[in-house]
Amino acid sequence: MKNREMIAKEGLDMSTVSKMGKPVTIAIDGLSDWRIVVEEGAIASETHAARELQHFLREICGAELPIVSDEQPLAEKELIVGDNRHLRELGIDLDTGRLGQDGFVLKTVGNRLVIAGGQPRGTLYGVYSLLEEELGCRWFTRTESLIPKRSSIQLPEINSERIPRIATRTALFMDTYDGDWAARNKINCWSPYPLEEKHGGKIAMSEHFVHTFYKLVPPEAYFEAHPEYFSLVDGTRRGSDAQLCLSHPDVFRIALEQLRRWMDEEPEAAIFGVSQNDCTGACECEQCRALDEEEESPIGSILTFVNRLAEAIEEEYPDKRIETLAYWYSRKPPKHLKPHRNVIIRLCSMECCFMHPLDQCEQNDSFVQDVVGWGKICDQVYIWDYLVDFKHYVMPYPNLRVIAPNIRFFTESNVSGIMAQGAHTSLKTEFAEMKSYLTARLLWNPELDPQTLIQEFATHYYGAAAESILAYIRLLEDRVDALVGYHAGCFDPPTDKYFSPELLDESERLLGHALRLADSPEIEERVRTVHMQVKYTRMMLLTEKLNQVRSDFFKEAEELGITRVTEWKPLEESKERLETGQEPF
Ligand SMILES: [Zn+2]
Ligand SMILES: [Zn+2]
Repeated sequence: MKNREMIAKEGLDMSTVSKMGKPVTIAIDGLSDWRIVVEEGAIASETHAARELQHFLREICGAELPIVSDEQPLAEKELIVGDNRHLRELGIDLDTGRLGQDGFVLKTVGNRLVIAGGQPRGTLYGVYSLLEEELGCRWFTRTESLIPKRSSIQLPEINSERIPRIATRTALFMDTYDGDWAARNKINCWSPYPLEEKHGGKIAMSEHFVHTFYKLVPPEAYFEAHPEYFSLVDGTRRGSDAQLCLSHPDVFRIALEQLRRWMDEEPEAAIFGVSQNDCTGACECEQCRALDEEEESPIGSILTFVNRLAEAIEEEYPDKRIETLAYWYSRKPPKHLKPHRNVIIRLCSMECCFMHPLDQCEQNDSFVQDVVGWGKICDQVYIWDYLVDFKHYVMPYPNLRVIAPNIRFFTESNVSGIMAQGAHTSLKTEFAEMKSYLTARLLWNPELDPQTLIQEFATHYYGAAAESILAYIRLLEDRVDALVGYHAGCFDPPTDKYFSPELLDESERLLGHALRLADSPEIEERVRTVHMQVKYTRMMLLTEKLNQVRSDFFKEAEELGITRVTEWKPLEESKERLETGQEPF
């Protein structure tokens, strides 16, 4: 169980935390005379919060606390869930504006405990944090949880407020696309997560969320009659593989009409993309160039255009925001302009090295500088971050230790949204579930100790084999440190330089040991899944006896439920490609 000191150190904005005070006793010897109070007609996520609290308390101590409506008179021994009449009778005025959609307070009031937050998710998150921090509950994967049993429950006096610094949080791994898992670990965004109303829903991205210039002003519809709407590149207007002429008044008018249509078509979506296509080709006409020169960055013409659209829609669509990319040629922040209040600026760490923390590797200097620069002029800087090698999903990619420092760097730079992209098209890839869990926990609270999170996960997930698996992870990390000048991005191939024969042999020795220690069929399968990382690497580096190694690898991959070894191709296709001398992706 975490103590008060540890909670006080967490990286969330909090008001006060009591370290001493009167504890409350909720259950003794499996019996409880407490009850859970929720508002009559509460929203789905607050009703669910009460049920989740009831469910997990019963699992912990065996007692089933009744859930009652706030129309019952206020009494002692109440767990007051959500903003309701009892809360107000106690004189607690919940500052829902300040708490936002996800923030909450936990507060002992005499012989009662208040768990209440902003809507739609704050109260539910408050329940999960209480269970996690005070009672040791963990939701590691969609099937593996730790709910410690204890017949008596005593809670210290609590008085804390939590508002996450990272307001929009996602870790994209197919293994964890589960609404309950996501809500319990406070993931609140992105379409693959089936977050329902009972989970408080999610911050929904429009289906038009990235690289949308040609969707806003389609060349098929306009280029022939109006080439001047499109980028002037090297003296020629281009209707493909380029951008728009953002200073043209008709382009603004057409884009605004299209954007309004999208917003009407997707009333539930909160974030809409107005962003450059995934290529270069910015407009070089006199007006566009003047805007870029004024701002000393190609973002000048883009942000001028995006700000105007944002201003034009803000009254009509007050809950919607426009996201644009500061990406590739446009990443450098502008000299004078500032993003409008409803504009999100998203940067992508795609070309960075992930073997070292972002701000501790010279390869990443310009990215770091741009993130810091944007953070100074914008309160809605979002990051598209990368957690795996997308060409080689199964290869060892020892970046577990950079996840926490990177998230901390982002929060210190005023970043308020992170989408950490992992293996989103395959199951059972390199440490997928561990990375997803670690990332989700740290996105909510960047100050948590990553080693503790990894250790807890490994102990539960790998049982008796945990220490050998952790030794294997350390071996891979030590190899990075031993190779001075070694860096790796998220599309790099396995190399002889990193994967020396000694490293692969020692990996097999540790994993062989882990396999002998595995004390259940599930754990044995998980250890074998880790072993596939080394087998994959050997297959990719080998030149002799390749056919046998390859057919063994793919047979075992299928058996273990690995559905892809690369982002873009199904397993069978990767196998065929390798057989015909091509890359697997
Ligand atoms: Zn132009
Ligand atoms: Zn590096």
